[in-house]
Amino acid sequence: MPEHKIHDVIIIGGGQSALACGYYLRRTDLDYVILDNQKECGGAWQHGWDSLTLFSPAEQSSLPGWLMPKSENEFPTRDEVIDYMCQYEKRYKLPVERPLNVKEVEEKSDYFKIITDKSTFYSKAIISATGTWGKPFIPNIPGKDSFKGKQIHSAHYRKPEDFSDKKVLIIGEGNSGAQILAEVSKVADTVWATLKTPEFLPDDVDGRVLFDQASAKYYAEKKGEKFDASTYNLGNIVMVPSVKEARERDVLHSKGQFNSFTETGVLWENGEEEAFDAVIWCTGFRYATDHLQKIVSTDDRGKIKTQGTRSIEEENLWLVGYGGWTGFASATLIGVGRTARSTVKDIQNRLK
Ligand code: FAD
Repeated sequence: MPEHKIHDVIIIGGGQSALACGYYLRRTDLDYVILDNQKECGGAWQHGWDSLTLFSPAEQSSLPGWLMPKSENEFPTRDEVIDYMCQYEKRYKLPVERPLNVKEVEEKSDYFKIITDKSTFYSKAIISATGTWGKPFIPNIPGKDSFKGKQIHSAHYRKPEDFSDKKVLIIGEGNSGAQILAEVSKVADTVWATLKTPEFLPDDVDGRVLFDQASAKYYAEKKGEKFDASTYNLGNIVMVPSVKEARERDVLHSKGQFNSFTETGVLWENGEEEAFDAVIWCTGFRYATDHLQKIVSTDDRGKIKTQGTRSIEEENLWLVGYGGWTGFASATLIGVGRTARSTVKDIQNRLK
């Protein structure tokens, strides 16, 4: 046994999912620490673009225990979300240590060794809540590395002015692609490349409606009832004000797919070559689970086999927040509370 203290639980990550777990852990007699590799509080929200807002009003975007303060705007801004998370940490005196990057986890006989870039921790159980922001995904398109213009992923995009007067290719048909296209097209000449034809939700469908629909589906499935699927596709683009405005300007059109990059631009499927100064990849993320590779297997997206939030291969490891595979709506502020609560209950029972 090590001479060091063995905590009951270590939470890896310090975003909304870690805070929700911390909230429930502090109501138990388990001792725990949260390790986050960021310098400041706010998790991935610190890296959102300057104009990013939530899809839902504050009262429907809250972590357990304390409602997010009302915003002057209908939908809270990125900075308001960060402020809420920082205040939440203080309010509940959550024991967060940062910046500490967890490099890997090793399994010892009946505890884990958690190796960070500064020191080593030990615990009986682990909650991994490291999100996706650290793993931006860029597809491997032929010639990508030969393109001499600027390339960034939406994970690092901040503001349209960085592309003023440029010719910019925006890749990806999701919400990030649509929102970034909407604002960059005001200051630059933009072209939208998508694999599929972008599909838009009706104007009056926002995060509230989507969450209510997802909840109805969840409860119907739980009761073994059939869910009426004639509703909205949750993956379609939400018509936030900036996207509506871009529609008015008639810029929300996709040019389809391209085959490869050249040194100066791309080669479209129809053989047309087009030059660009910059490319913004809005092509999503993988799960940031590299630190767990010594103790469990992951698929090519970083996903780990779970039952509920608990790893099937490693019984003292829980995963919270990453997406639907770690619980219903667990990658949202309002949804993660439920999975955090059941995870902590599960850990309590397990460590008894
Ligand atoms: P994160 O916020 O990513 O936090 C994980 C933390 O762990 C980070 O601080 C990270 O740096 C740290 N970390 C990672 N690896 C390590 C390591 N090895 N060691 C130590 N620390 C580590 N959700 C909503 O509820 N409403 C919305 O309107 C909404 N809009 C969104 C819009 C966009 C464009 C995007 C991309 C997401 C949106 N989301 C929204 C989803 C939500 O923001 C994310 O799912 C959320 O950030 C996930 O929280 P998390 O705590 O799981 O992960």
